[in-house]
Amino acid sequence: MKRVAVIGGGSSGIMAACFASGGGNSVVLFEKQKKLGRKVLVSGNGRCNITNRNIAAENYHGANPRFVLNVLSRFGLDETIEFFRSVGLPLVEEKNGKMFPASLQSASVMRIMEFELSRRGVEVRTHRKIEKIRPANGGFTLITAGREEACFDSVILAAGSCANTQSGGSRDGYDLARQLGHTMREPFPAILPITIPLKILHRLQGVKWDCAIRVMNQKKITGSSQGELLFTAYGISGPAALDVSRAVNEAIIRGDNPRIVIDLFPGYSGKSLAELIDSLWSFGSRSAALSLTGILKNPMPDVLLRMAGIEPSTPVKELGKNARNALVNMLKGLVIEPGKPRGFDEAVVAAGGVVVDEVNPATMESRLVKKFYLTGELLDIDGDSGGYNLQFAWSTGALAGMAQH
Ligand SMILES: Cc1cc2nc3c(=O)[nH]c(=O)nc-3n(C[C@H](O)[C@H](O)[C@H](O)COP(=O)(O)OP(=O)(O)OC[C@H]3O[C@@H](n4cnc5c(N)ncnc54)[C@H](O)[C@@H]3O)c2cc1C
Repeated sequence: MKRVAVIGGGSSGIMAACFASGGGNSVVLFEKQKKLGRKVLVSGNGRCNITNRNIAAENYHGANPRFVLNVLSRFGLDETIEFFRSVGLPLVEEKNGKMFPASLQSASVMRIMEFELSRRGVEVRTHRKIEKIRPANGGFTLITAGREEACFDSVILAAGSCANTQSGGSRDGYDLARQLGHTMREPFPAILPITIPLKILHRLQGVKWDCAIRVMNQKKITGSSQGELLFTAYGISGPAALDVSRAVNEAIIRGDNPRIVIDLFPGYSGKSLAELIDSLWSFGSRSAALSLTGILKNPMPDVLLRMAGIEPSTPVKELGKNARNALVNMLKGLVIEPGKPRGFDEAVVAAGGVVVDEVNPATMESRLVKKFYLTGELLDIDGDSGGYNLQFAWSTGALAGMAQH
């Protein structure tokens, strides 16, 4: 009988344990928290965005994104949909290809996965923090924080990343992988709000606005998104900001000086926006601020006019072509400088992690230590928002589990 240990009861660990079970294997799942799957429970705002119909390698980032292609070609979207259907969790599709359990509840995913673990004979040990992995007699000894020891023939490390400390994110996985000689690409926070030090922008706190946003670094566009932006007391948030946060943080951490460029009127060309402003400025005695009140939410006219160098109380009859052009240029390309990356506690995922060149993408087995497997967000792969991260966790977990037979 082969004894298999899985460290970490999140999405990839649960999947690995399910697939490793059977065929005479004895599988033990160690979870340091009281409950399994805390990140699954909070994912997709409690609805669990399980995967995405438009899954493609381009949605993933890391030093070697080709790794993802190799993983997804072995256990990809179809296999994931089929797996969930087979355990009684049919998926439904919403906009942008996002797929959810038909119940639209993360809790139902966890209830069914826990049932599957028990149906497949996996022994789940919660409140067990693994602190040490020692190679021993062709296998491994695992040592818990409470000094319990247990021996296994193979070990799957699925301990996740240091993102989102509230749901249990920690550096444990990196430390355990290092114990067996693996190297790390230093993690940095991704999919999180962005600090903007420019104080005048903080006056827009609470305003939500549809826009197109891009990140410029070394004269190149390194990230872009279109959608809702939320101005906050410290900077920007909302889907459009979260989408580009990775590109911003990666550049800052490398020591570059990126800029965020916001098009507040993506539906207008520069010319058509200029014509619109001209028509609004034909009401001669109105103030510049009042002239924009019909097209912008309060207090955007005041803030944006000041940023364009126009005093908001100026009657529009006193404003010429230069002022109009300055305003149009700013509305179509508001350039802002991001501040220091915010903390891992606010991040949905961590970019960086265990270097994937040290892992075989067909089986997730370490290329450095035989019978040691690594899965999920612990690896130096992170996906865009929209179901891509859970998909990578399901896929890598399934492959590591299958490799136990
Ligand atoms: C708020 C939030 C919302 C998200 N929404 C989505 C979404 O909708 N769609 C999507 O695709 N992705 C989403 N994600 C990302 C997704 O949840 C993760 O990428 C995914 O869960 C990673 O799976 P994992 O198995 O690698 O790690 P995790 O799910 O983090 O699991 C790791 C497990 O290991 C345990 N562990 C750690 N160290 C030890 C140790 N020493 N001993 C024993 N156990 C240990 C942890 O407690 C944890 O349970 C979201 C993340 C967050 C934080």
